[in-house]
Amino acid sequence: MEKGAQLYEGKAKKVFATADENLVIVSYKDDATANDGEKKGTIAGKGSINNRMSNHLMQLLEENGVPTHFVEELNDRETVVKKVEIVALEVIIRNISAGHFASRYGVPEGIVFEEPTIEFSLKNDDLHDPLLNSYHAVALKVATWDEINRIKEMAFTVNRVLSEYFLKLNVRLVDFKLEFGRLADGTIVLADEISPDTCRFWDATTNEKLDKDRFRRDMGGVEDAYREMMRRVFGKEE
Ligand code: ADP
Ligand code: UDP
Repeated sequence: MEKGAQLYEGKAKKVFATADENLVIVSYKDDATANDGEKKGTIAGKGSINNRMSNHLMQLLEENGVPTHFVEELNDRETVVKKVEIVALEVIIRNISAGHFASRYGVPEGIVFEEPTIEFSLKNDDLHDPLLNSYHAVALKVATWDEINRIKEMAFTVNRVLSEYFLKLNVRLVDFKLEFGRLADGTIVLADEISPDTCRFWDATTNEKLDKDRFRRDMGGVEDAYREMMRRVFGKEE
């Protein structure tokens, strides 16, 4: 499938039209940003790792009853996906306290929750993605109640499937961000990506960070962490 006109360039991916109006091609970049776009850099090999890992996880989720945008991996960096109208919410599930949860509520990182939590922020870079609740999202007409309920149900299913999957790879799924979209007929599907950019992964034995926090926090070993996650998921050196 051929790439048509570029429709969008984001911080981590480009989106291209195709001859089929219901399909787009996403192309993953090595560019990385953090701290609300303040910190910029590149992570060598990230585009290819995130593309392949996200596609692998989306297929696992499909097998477990979660509809996704995934259609076909074209090459290391590019994938055909169903074109969606993105629901303007970042949906964050947490199993263990970390990042903004820890700083916002003044608690240490590493508290294991008895039940996972869910939170939403409005996808709006100008407003710095403010936190909002379901009532706010409905009032703002970002989503309907039916859509919110469906998104919550799908997000917790994603958490169950992925937490179990990663634990078998000796990885704790600490927290992650999901995006959902509407197909032309209104069906909600999981969209965007699931990767070390959008998840916190801790080694289950040592609690070593194996995700973008190494970049955000200038910890070094960023590329190695992405490669290690790839090795665990695909069972070999990439
Ligand atoms: P950002 O926009 O935050 O900089 P990216 O660089 O990842 O993020 O850009 C990818 C864009 O494509 C995001 O805005 C994302 O919401 C959007 N997107 C993800 N999946 C789809 C899809 N299936 N159809 C249309 N747009 C999508
Ligand atoms: N996250 C993301 N994109 C964002 C914000 C958060 O992918 O714009 C992910 C992040 O990788 C982590 C989870 O969502 O896995 C929770 O992030 P948090 O709210 O703690 O914010 P962060 O500290 O990552 O900015």
